[in-house]
Amino acid sequence: MNEKVIIIGSGFSSLSSACYLAKKGYQVDVFEKNNSLGGRARQFKQDGFTFDMGPSWYWMPDIFERFFNDFDKNPSDYYNLKRLDPAYEVYFGTKEKIVIDGSLEKIIIAFEKEEKGSGEKLKKFIESAKINYDIAINKIVYRPGKSPLELITFETIKKLNLFIRNIKDDVYDNFKNPKLRQLLQFPVLFLGAKPKDTPAFYNFMNFADYGLGTWHPEGGFYSVVNGMFELAESLGVKFHLNSPVEKIIVNDYKARGIIVDSKKFEADVILSGADYHHTETLLDKNLRVYSDKYWNKKTFAPSSLLFYIGLNKKIQNVAHHTLFFDVDFDKHAAEIYDNPRWPDEPLFYVNIPSKSDSSMAPAGKDACFILIPLAPDLHDTKELRKKYLDIVIKRLEKRTEQEINKHILFKESFCVNDFISEYNSYKGNAYGMANTLFQTAFLRPKMESKKVRGLYFCGQLTVPGPGVPPSLISGKISAGLVEKYLRKPNR
Ligand SMILES: Cc1cc2nc3c(=O)[nH]c(=O)nc-3n(C[C@H](O)[C@H](O)[C@H](O)COP(=O)(O)OP(=O)(O)OC[C@H]3O[C@@H](n4cnc5c(N)ncnc54)[C@H](O)[C@@H]3O)c2cc1C
Repeated sequence: MNEKVIIIGSGFSSLSSACYLAKKGYQVDVFEKNNSLGGRARQFKQDGFTFDMGPSWYWMPDIFERFFNDFDKNPSDYYNLKRLDPAYEVYFGTKEKIVIDGSLEKIIIAFEKEEKGSGEKLKKFIESAKINYDIAINKIVYRPGKSPLELITFETIKKLNLFIRNIKDDVYDNFKNPKLRQLLQFPVLFLGAKPKDTPAFYNFMNFADYGLGTWHPEGGFYSVVNGMFELAESLGVKFHLNSPVEKIIVNDYKARGIIVDSKKFEADVILSGADYHHTETLLDKNLRVYSDKYWNKKTFAPSSLLFYIGLNKKIQNVAHHTLFFDVDFDKHAAEIYDNPRWPDEPLFYVNIPSKSDSSMAPAGKDACFILIPLAPDLHDTKELRKKYLDIVIKRLEKRTEQEINKHILFKESFCVNDFISEYNSYKGNAYGMANTLFQTAFLRPKMESKKVRGLYFCGQLTVPGPGVPPSLISGKISAGLVEKYLRKPNR
């Protein structure tokens, strides 16, 4: 077999599809615009500190296992995983925080302390979330999103009401305590939409959180990128860095190759893991399936203001993952989705990987990553970044009762403008298109171009959606479609 496949981008979805296609015997070349692999999961290193630039929550370890098992490998062949205990901590006010332990039994006890009777309710909630998780993984998410029929199974028909109801209502009906309500709405934020706009079926993310746990790959998330790169290379995939694709060559409505640096590279199939909207701009207008109007109407996952900070001390009173839900959750959500603007009082997330992995920072120091979710497309300036750094550092100092600002050795930021310039991200979204009811499965942009034969898409703007595990799945599904196409006698 000597058919050639060109893959655009080297994010998780591209790395995944590259492995599957190379295993099938195709000649696979990956073209990445940046000077390192991993897409939004790139790594930043400075002065002995290591930062994951994007993902830091390793959830759904079973999906990573499934991926490596497909190649008769295990994650442990490439990186060491540690289950975090506590998984994370959440601040609700000064000194007031809830610790989410590494075991469901202990979380149930923590809930019961906050609201009488909630422990038993949580147990039932997670039992139902587990059932939904099993349905989602075994029956839904590995489907290509071609037809609504993919969603119709014996199990999903029984759960129809959970697609119509939203997760916020579900949580509010079961729990009265405002802190518990917020805790249980946190996991679906990974899907990119407000809990009110996310179907209750997606409570399977609560099982991913409390049931399957929060893990840390030693060396950070980039160890997973390195592992997949090693696997891909061993299967024969060729990587081309610093290679932004300028154009997809189409002849007679068929993808024939790409142009990089004015050079032509031919292939039988082009599969893009770059943002879907951007990929279509590499085609002539008449060959694009989705219009600007289409994209403009979609609900995108938030963008983010990110800080990578080297501290010359060990920071106290924060865990490996700490959420600061100490201000109004609904107000900040409205400033992201309903009335896009810079938030008055931002919620934020702090990741200190050096708390549980000494390789991430020099001895006696901490690597600190801060994330403030923002509406996509906001005006992004140096002054605004500085203003928000001051706000979060002050809050962090107040909540955790220590001096931080004077311990900063260096700081770097990443925001809307960088998401656009570094990743060609639509409106600077951080993690793709949200999984709302009307943007789920067959309602998402299709993996197969309807106008150009041999042009395929994977990644967080198509099925199944945002997040690293879905990106691994997206790579697998798209590789399956490409293989089917290449097997057609008269394609
Ligand atoms: C700040 C942040 C935090 C996150 N946190 C988590 C988390 O904790 N857990 C989790 O599971 N997920 C998280 N995510 C989401 C997760 O990182 C993404 O869903 C996933 O990495 C997306 O992979 P992808 O393959 O779809 O796209 P990408 O990673 O965006 O890859 C696309 C690639 O295409 C390249 N490209 C673009 N245009 C071109 C071109 N013209 N030519 C060549 N190459 C091109 C880009 O440079 C990029 O490398 C987070 C994301 C961000 C940004």
